[in-house]
Amino acid sequence: MNKAIVQLMLILAAVWPGWASAQPATWDSQSGRMELSRFVEYWAEPSGPATLETVRNLRENQWQPNGKDSVSLGYGDEVYWFRVRIGNQGETSDPLFLEIGYPVLDHVEIYLVNNGELTEQHILGDKQPFHDRLVDHRNFLVPLTLSSGDNISVYVRVDTSSSMQVPLTLWDQADYYVAEQSRSMFEGLYYGIVLVMILYNLFVYIAVGERSFLYYVGYISAMPLFLASLHGVSFQYLWPEATRWNDQAIIVFLNLVILFGGAFSIRFINVSRTNHPIMNRLTLSLMVVAGLMALAGILVPYRLMILPTIVVAFLGCTGMLLLSIVRWIKKDLAARYYTLAWFFMLFGGIVLALSKFTMLPRNLLTENATQVGSAIGVILLSVALADRLNKEKKRSFEAQQRLLQEERKARLAQEKSLRIQREANTLLEQRVHERTQDLEVVNDQLRELSSTDALTGLKNRGHFDRAFSSAVVKAYRFGQPLSLLLLDIDHFKKFNDTYGHLVGDDCLQMVANCIRQYVTRPEDLAARYGGEEFVVLLPDTPEEGALRVAEKIRQEIERTGFRVSEEVLHLTVSIGVCAVCPHEADATKAIFCWADEALYEAKGRGRNQVVVSEPPPVQDARPAIV
Ligand code: GH3
Ligand code: MG
Ligand code: MG
Repeated sequence: MNKAIVQLMLILAAVWPGWASAQPATWDSQSGRMELSRFVEYWAEPSGPATLETVRNLRENQWQPNGKDSVSLGYGDEVYWFRVRIGNQGETSDPLFLEIGYPVLDHVEIYLVNNGELTEQHILGDKQPFHDRLVDHRNFLVPLTLSSGDNISVYVRVDTSSSMQVPLTLWDQADYYVAEQSRSMFEGLYYGIVLVMILYNLFVYIAVGERSFLYYVGYISAMPLFLASLHGVSFQYLWPEATRWNDQAIIVFLNLVILFGGAFSIRFINVSRTNHPIMNRLTLSLMVVAGLMALAGILVPYRLMILPTIVVAFLGCTGMLLLSIVRWIKKDLAARYYTLAWFFMLFGGIVLALSKFTMLPRNLLTENATQVGSAIGVILLSVALADRLNKEKKRSFEAQQRLLQEERKARLAQEKSLRIQREANTLLEQRVHERTQDLEVVNDQLRELSSTDALTGLKNRGHFDRAFSSAVVKAYRFGQPLSLLLLDIDHFKKFNDTYGHLVGDDCLQMVANCIRQYVTRPEDLAARYGGEEFVVLLPDTPEEGALRVAEKIRQEIERTGFRVSEEVLHLTVSIGVCAVCPHEADATKAIFCWADEALYEAKGRGRNQVVVSEPPPVQDARPAIV
């Protein structure tokens, strides 16, 4: 019976860790490293700080064995003490590192008790300036030497506002440096790739101005900064003194990841208000919350911010993954890259988690899976972005080409219509020109007609008057002589009365023909002044010339026979001549008067003769008849 109870108690002890205290860890110098999580025991400080003495005097059953592959007690206000006992049964004494692989713990006190005696105590945690550490490393490292036969108890007091994770690992120092080299290389690779991508996308943004690139730069800047803060890298290299900011940075950058990730997603996989109104609004709301929380994260304590931030991050990540899947289903090409990138990023996290729980072998790739996944994701998205830009450029180039072609067509059509219009204009001008010429000819004819006497064909009185006054003006200006002949047929009334008016008209034509024969110079002018009176204007002709012309006309008329029925009749004319150099421009009336007086004198002297009036040297003097 007793045996049975003992056995039951043993089984219960195995199943319920609270009943059984953890075994001490035994260092094996061959292994190089040793995960201590399974050997860790913890105790929550009830109230007020406990001293090491108090902790050392705790009863064994007050210690809670961890019994798992990780020490993770979540978020809370409690302060925990952890204990791990390490023994060295080997022959050698090795220089070791005790590593706490969670660099965001606030206050960490470490006590080493060797064979019952406190040998070392250190204060670590990211509330201490970085360079106060024992070893300048992003994780907390405590060098210790474990001599053969030593039994060390390590007490760790952790007071933190972050998650209570205390991954304890014991390393052989040589092995640690070897492992560290690979880890550094991977990290260097990751940050290098991300930095190149940030710069590349930034330059593309500057060159192209497409906002997706800017959001993407924000996203892939916030992401590594968040990881670097979480892994203690930024504390080590970027702000080793800024102990307060070091906590806040995690909040700020994680929220920025969601803010920029959301902005980038909306633009990159086209979650627009028209496409997906609800998802668009939800994402925008989440972005606003993340933005506000990023701002608040600068001031509000980490303790208050971390849980809401994790909720936002969780919603953001799930939301973005959901968006990308929906967009993929809707056949958005970009969403394929996007989902793939997300898959890699999440996959990195999953692999890391699985390796932590020993479900995957622990190696370089699984240890650095987050960085590898994230780097692949970043590269994929960057390629996708460039690809999209390329396609858009091609599309816009084609559209531009089409537009250019249309424009060329329109221009050709315009040119054609202009040409037609020009031709029409030319034709019209030609027609107008032709019509104008025709009109000018008709006008000339009309002018000719209107200045011609219909019966005799000589110029009429109107024309003579105009020509006479301009000839006087010209003669006056150039000081030239001017002669005027005034002709009147003798006894024409009687002739008319005897032979009738029609014969009289024929007679007038005959006289006109006779006159025309002796008016030969281009500037001379013969005109019918009215009735049976004619005038002959002889510019630039002195008295002798005028007299000669008058006499020739008189003789010619006298000589010319005019046949009426069986009779040959002869007519005579009397001619008054005035030859003068005008002393004023308006001397027409005077000249005409003098010629008329001379004619009157000719009539008076018996007709059929030429009489010259001799104008006085001064115009207003009366002409003297010779
Ligand atoms: P004189 O020698 O004094 O000049 O005598 P006359 O008969 O010629 O007198 P006057 O010069 O006054 O005569 C004008 C006449 O000329 C009147 C008219 O019978 C005639 N006559 C005037 N115009 C025309 C015309 O257009 N045709 C014809 N057939 N006769 C005209
Ligand atoms: Mg008369
Ligand atoms: Mg007469």
